[in-house]
Amino acid sequence: MEIEYTPEQKVFRDEVRAFLANRLDPELQRKVRFDEPLTKADVQAWQRALFEQGWGAPSWPVEYGGTGWDAIQRHIFEEECARANAPEQLPFGLKMVAPVIQRYANETQQQQHLPGILSGDVWWCQGYSEPGAGSDLAALQTTAVREGDEYIVNGQKTWTTLAQHADWIFCLVRTDSSVRKQAGISFLLIDMNSPGITVKPIIMLDDGHEVNEVWFDNVRVPIANRVGEENAGWTYAKYLLGHERTNIARVARSKAKLAWLKEVAAVQPGNDGGRLLDDVDFAARIARVELELHALEIMNLKLVAAEGRPTSPGPEASMLKIKGSEIQQTLSELLALATGPYGVASLASEDPAYADGVSAAFNPELYSATGRYFNLRKTTIYGGANEIQKGIICKAILNI
Ligand SMILES: Cc1cc2nc3c(=O)[nH]c(=O)nc-3n(C[C@H](O)[C@H](O)[C@H](O)COP(=O)(O)OP(=O)(O)OC[C@H]3O[C@@H](n4cnc5c(N)ncnc54)[C@H](O)[C@@H]3O)c2cc1C
Repeated sequence: MEIEYTPEQKVFRDEVRAFLANRLDPELQRKVRFDEPLTKADVQAWQRALFEQGWGAPSWPVEYGGTGWDAIQRHIFEEECARANAPEQLPFGLKMVAPVIQRYANETQQQQHLPGILSGDVWWCQGYSEPGAGSDLAALQTTAVREGDEYIVNGQKTWTTLAQHADWIFCLVRTDSSVRKQAGISFLLIDMNSPGITVKPIIMLDDGHEVNEVWFDNVRVPIANRVGEENAGWTYAKYLLGHERTNIARVARSKAKLAWLKEVAAVQPGNDGGRLLDDVDFAARIARVELELHALEIMNLKLVAAEGRPTSPGPEASMLKIKGSEIQQTLSELLALATGPYGVASLASEDPAYADGVSAAFNPELYSATGRYFNLRKTTIYGGANEIQKGIICKAILNI
């Protein structure tokens, strides 16, 4: 589905396309297309390229170095990046902590942290969840106790995405246990090189190292690293979570995956000896997910068009999260089915025997399909589990 853009918007789209054609390294493009893990250097190189173009922060205000693009321009940018298989920008600095720093941090903190986020030189991770505090985030127990002009931080964060690369972590910590749980939380910026921090990998179902435990053992953090008021961290945490929902539907990325699924199904044999794409059952499954994706896209565009108006998206964002994550999972399931045994080769080995007698469309890249299927089980959990999103929708409908 294409939107009817204005002539100015078409010029903008062509500018984005030209930039992507010039600056996107084909090897990086290939890795993104086939879901191969990106290195820290890959991610940083792409952020640097965007930064040099003046596009490092599509959603920041101009005064902080953002593009000042409107919602439609940001949408076009996301669409074109997905279509070209550009890496996704890391959200932790750009889309999560930066808006909090811009709104609530003091000038010294802004000057210290925003430039490194924009250029991609400084890598951030998110220290919210703990073993006993995920959906019920306010139950967090990592403590920060004042000693002179420092806090002494003790506790454990978990599921910390890409903390193994991080220079800084933004953390919710408990600074008062005697009050209602939301009222005793503070928001700290912590240097990951501080003595007492240990990062332990959690290996995921696809064998990938994407998440971690982060342990704090008497870590000294200057009080000057606290954002805003002590014990007001819950307000900042909620503000940040609002920004976490940007691009939550991931329509453009799913469209790229759908196209790839069709390519694979067009060369794989179906049950009756013809193409898998012509297999009635399989074709019906592709058609169903394609229709759902169209419907999601229309809803997403309605929200894009409404952005900037006084009403906030509210429960619609939860609907986008639920449907968008389910569609990503369905596409990965169909792709794993379409690649069949060739999609699991990477889990065992890169045994060339797997490639014998396989049609031209099959190549080592397809080996990632099953790993991807396992990996994407995460989408209905992170960013607010889908059950929690359903609760939000129910509350809105029932007005409670
Ligand atoms: C791949 C991945 C990356 C992540 N990255 C980060 C990160 O970088 N930083 C970070 O801080 N966190 C991160 N998270 C953590 C994520 O935010 C939590 O996993 C999520 O909030 C769910 O919390 P939980 O895992 O403790 O599950 P729980 O909250 O224990 O939930 C368990 C199950 O119970 C259901 N449930 C819980 N409460 C309710 C309720 N009230 N009503 C109905 N059902 C309910 C949930 O939906 C879920 O199915 C990541 C998680 C994953 C999987």
